[in-house]
Amino acid sequence: MRQPFDVVVIGSGIAGLSFALKAAGAGRVAVVTKKEDKASATNYAQGGIAAVLSPLDDFESHISDTLVAGAGLCRREAVEVMVREAPRLIGELIELGVGFNRSPEASDGEGAGEAPDGGDPLHLGREGGHSHYRIVHVHDLTGAEVEQALVTAVSAHPNITVYENHIGLDLITEHYLGTTKHTVPGKHTVYGAYVLDSARGEVVAFPARITLLATGGCGQIYRHTTNPDISTGDGLAMSARAGCELANMEFMQFHPTSLYGTGDPAFLISEAVRGFGGILCNAEGEAFMAGEHPLKDLAPRDIVARAIDRQLKATGAPYVFLDLTHRSSSEIEERFPHIVTTCRELGLDPSRDRLPVVPAAHYMCGGIPTNLWGETVLPRLFAIGEVACTGVHGANRLASNSLLEGLVFAERAAIRVQEVLGAQGLDVPEPPPWDVAGTRLSREHILVSHDRMEIRNLMWDYVGLVRSTSRLLRAERRLSIITQEVEQYYRWTRVTAELLELRNMVQVALLIAQSALSRKESRGLHYVTDFPESVAELDGKDTIMPFDWGTVTL
Ligand SMILES: Cc1cc2nc3c(=O)[nH]c(=O)nc-3n(C[C@H](O)[C@H](O)[C@H](O)COP(=O)(O)OP(=O)(O)OC[C@H]3O[C@@H](n4cnc5c(N)ncnc54)[C@H](O)[C@@H]3O)c2cc1C
Repeated sequence: MRQPFDVVVIGSGIAGLSFALKAAGAGRVAVVTKKEDKASATNYAQGGIAAVLSPLDDFESHISDTLVAGAGLCRREAVEVMVREAPRLIGELIELGVGFNRSPEASDGEGAGEAPDGGDPLHLGREGGHSHYRIVHVHDLTGAEVEQALVTAVSAHPNITVYENHIGLDLITEHYLGTTKHTVPGKHTVYGAYVLDSARGEVVAFPARITLLATGGCGQIYRHTTNPDISTGDGLAMSARAGCELANMEFMQFHPTSLYGTGDPAFLISEAVRGFGGILCNAEGEAFMAGEHPLKDLAPRDIVARAIDRQLKATGAPYVFLDLTHRSSSEIEERFPHIVTTCRELGLDPSRDRLPVVPAAHYMCGGIPTNLWGETVLPRLFAIGEVACTGVHGANRLASNSLLEGLVFAERAAIRVQEVLGAQGLDVPEPPPWDVAGTRLSREHILVSHDRMEIRNLMWDYVGLVRSTSRLLRAERRLSIITQEVEQYYRWTRVTAELLELRNMVQVALLIAQSALSRKESRGLHYVTDFPESVAELDGKDTIMPFDWGTVTL
């Protein structure tokens, strides 16, 4: 067998790469990634990273804003850890070469922050739900700059090998080693992963002492999403099949402002645009957020997205507008060069035209439950980044806290992994070769592409921004049937990337619908017309949902 790696990391976004860099001191690290190394949601992030750097800001205020957005479901100790580590980790990114924007002229004031490297003050933006200016950024291309810096550092590290175009398929647990058939939550040790080498069409084992999931989110299960095509919930489904229960999966965040008609993924108009003065209005020019929330256009995302949804339903219009025409062309271009270029390619000029916008699925707040060190309930399995549920987002993520969460918990997981590797031998049993007996090549790609589209439509129409029990029940019934059909097909078909993604997407979609059905109240991002109010007794109560093999009749 292939010699076991000390650590196999699945995913090369901010979480996976930051972790790999910090864990590589302890041994051989393999980073397995689905496409090329930079293909990630991280690469798309525009607005920036939240950190308390302004002299007028303080930790308590960032903590409080995060807890308010999280609507009673955040875990305070996780939020505190994240907020307090932020300034130091921004300093580390600067050392890695990330060129955050600076404000050389400003020495104090809300829009300028103390630079951890002692250089010129950092330019700080402001986004929805934040009571202060605290978003460091590189124009509107923050994620791409961070991803590039991390990829460069990882490529130069002698202990890290990156396997591009390798797709994590399943975690290797006892049930692959022949000791048990299906899964019981919390019982299995993880010994690495089976991985599809897409260039060769072969499934290979990556045995490892420690396995870390950093596979990002699952926005692709919705018809309209800002998420790139890699965001199909693979790590969520892999961990659920191995026996992890998933937490708070009903809390899918819909970003209020994706540019209307820009396809898949939908092009995001960052919240920083509203922080810069952008105003939402309807076709009559009415600035409707004034009547919705004291923070108006900078209200938390769930409130803004539902206000837009109400406008669309009331007026029948396909979109509302985001108006930035009161700011000068040069100011807009300086702050948002990427957005301006993209708008111009579509024939829109943000300094002259109001931009047509609609909500789109954006961020999964729930995920694999972990402790403050990235450990899951399964021995030797860690999870970090968007795939994890650390408790920092609760029922609604505060803008620009997710890149930060990835950074903070990557470091903490690396600390714990080094301790574990140092203290124990951690033998790895030899996994059997992937069994292809009884499978054949598929000549029915239409089954896969049709099901994928059906899931995405169904989730948008029945498990979207505004939910009802009857629509959720219908979604659950249909998703259960598709889950069974896909499972049958998977059992006799040679695996492909598309089939693996479809299997993961439907399993995650079903878990979201079931989680949404089980929460009989409205809270944060989860709004059900039958239960429009929050229930005080459910404060702090996570939804915990196992993958139910009983839904699959083989
Ligand atoms: C358009 C957009 C704008 C955003 N703007 C901001 C922002 O300004 N600030 C902020 O804080 N957050 C922002 N976010 C959210 C943030 O970008 C993500 O939450 C964060 O980047 C997630 O990082 P991650 O490392 O967990 O996952 P990702 O960056 O998504 O990386 C996941 C990695 O896993 C790989 N992968 C997935 N499945 C498999 C598999 N089966 N096998 C192998 N590899 C796999 C992927 O290829 C990828 O490399 C934005 C998101 C989007 C989509």
